[in-house]
Amino acid sequence: MSQISRETTEQILAATDIVDVIGSYIEVKRAGAVYKALCPFHNEKTPSFNINQARQFFHCFGCKKSGDAITFVREIENLTFADAVKKLGARVGITVVEEAVDPKEDQARRQRGRLLDLHRETTEFLHQMLFTREATHAREYLKSRGFGKEMAVRWQIGWMPESSETFLNWARTKNYKRGEWIDAGIFGSGERGGVFVRFRDRLMFPIRNEHGDVIAFSGRQLRHDPKSGKYINSPETPVFKKSNVLFALERARQSILKENCVLLCEGQIDAIACHEQGITHAIAPLGTAFTPNHAKLLRRYAKTALLCFDADKAGFTAAERAYRELAHEGIAVRVVRMPAGEDPDSFMQKHGADAFREILGSAVDFFDFKIDQAAAAGLLDDPQQRLAFAKECTSLLSLIPDAVLREGMIEHVGTRLKAGSIELRDAVFRAARATKNKPQRADRDAPQEPELVVEGMPIDSTVSYLCGLALHSATAQEWLAEQFETLHEAAEFLEGVPLLEEILSARPDPASHVAVNAFIATLTEPQRLALTSDPTFHDDPPENVIGATEEALAKICAKALHRRDASIKARMSQPNIELGEMNRLLNEAKLVAELLKGVGQRFVFSDRFAPNRKPPFKPFPRKTHSPSRPENNP
Ligand SMILES: [Zn+2]
Repeated sequence: MSQISRETTEQILAATDIVDVIGSYIEVKRAGAVYKALCPFHNEKTPSFNINQARQFFHCFGCKKSGDAITFVREIENLTFADAVKKLGARVGITVVEEAVDPKEDQARRQRGRLLDLHRETTEFLHQMLFTREATHAREYLKSRGFGKEMAVRWQIGWMPESSETFLNWARTKNYKRGEWIDAGIFGSGERGGVFVRFRDRLMFPIRNEHGDVIAFSGRQLRHDPKSGKYINSPETPVFKKSNVLFALERARQSILKENCVLLCEGQIDAIACHEQGITHAIAPLGTAFTPNHAKLLRRYAKTALLCFDADKAGFTAAERAYRELAHEGIAVRVVRMPAGEDPDSFMQKHGADAFREILGSAVDFFDFKIDQAAAAGLLDDPQQRLAFAKECTSLLSLIPDAVLREGMIEHVGTRLKAGSIELRDAVFRAARATKNKPQRADRDAPQEPELVVEGMPIDSTVSYLCGLALHSATAQEWLAEQFETLHEAAEFLEGVPLLEEILSARPDPASHVAVNAFIATLTEPQRLALTSDPTFHDDPPENVIGATEEALAKICAKALHRRDASIKARMSQPNIELGEMNRLLNEAKLVAELLKGVGQRFVFSDRFAPNRKPPFKPFPRKTHSPSRPENNP
């Protein structure tokens, strides 16, 4: 694992404003002392996503995600910790140097780095090649699609020469090993130990990752060759996993977030054409397959997807497949009605970008699209066929995760198909159960990570209140640290005390949000959830913080005493209890009763101004006899 020094991380966090960072991804509104937004991590209509600027901390009361700016960037962009820190560092002009610690990881990182360098250099070379005399036909093809030199420069489009020699000669001048060219997928291993160049006489589209690094190429055929595909992509490599990459996402991300909508095109040229015309939320999968990972990726950015596929059978099939994955992730799917035989590129060339925007605006819901298709094919005239079609719709309807939306859509589809909505609802319900019982869909190309539902660890509400105080008020923290013993003894009877003890051992400086958030980051997920799920955690500490802390500690002592009392009584009521044991329990009960009396007096302290020198109250005198101790056995 490579590592970023703590100083660097803290420096970056200190220079970063979480409201700015989050505001660059989603719309953030000020609401009194906090900032609110619609949560980008779950579906919601009223904002439960809160940002506390003073604490540099966000928290969603809906899905319980919380953390600092690093956590936010990690989550929304699906980055590693190191990449998120680098990204934030770049915003504030701090360069991040990673220190490698594990030689194996270090080697893998170096290998990745070299592959990215190799791709970058190759991109530059192929781009130069596009402007050579030999590439006239490649430029001509671009021109025929309405693209000029500027577009080629903006997208760094390249040309792979027809003759392998040209490329090989250049590659020999570079400092990469043969194995690295093969690892990058640019060379393939040929017969008798030779190599061949994978792309020949193709227009080369660089494919980039979310940082904008080129990680692969997609090559478009320039001369018709039935033996080879119109487009071929780099094979999967250590830096390129096809099912995780969407073409142009690195450019479209901001617009997608802004519009809360993604335009999914069928091919890369379509996506490029859209961007060139200022329709900047367009992306395309690589090849036709739209995977579950793609849908998961998009869920972070958009609540609605507009599908813009060709109006032919292949296009319909692709649309349905995309719908299945997107609906599964709670993304609403609308379909753009493209005139037959047109794609976004050809359409805009003929009718202009405004006309295309108009079509986008009149996109219809996926089910309306599907029903219209069926009606056009005459499937709805015959009752038998209509029934079969309704059945087909039920399994698609059952994919809508939101109950209210699903209900509305069942109603709508029922009306349009003239099917009773009760019957339809029953059928949808059965379809949903059938899908749930199915182990996994066979056509998933990536192993599914199980959706783990993490719950907060059990914690007493007063204990979690004190945890919040200890993290956000230096006075409370200092005072509580002196009550360590009292707390420790309550741990047996109240849930969550170890977490408070952990805070009081680490003692992160409440005046520094960096220190507090760094501490929170070291907690386990159930611990963090236990803390942040308490609404008081997000409030400012009360004015009389000592008073509030004392009162809460008194409450803890009282609760612990009552539980201890109940536990003694439960043990005394057991049958066949020995006399010695009974005596000890009686003594203990008497002591607890005494102590409980004290609780009634609400902890009046002799010296209120030096509370940390004298623990106010000791509900568990050290010397009490525990019945389990060996010397107490008869
Ligand atoms: Zn949320």
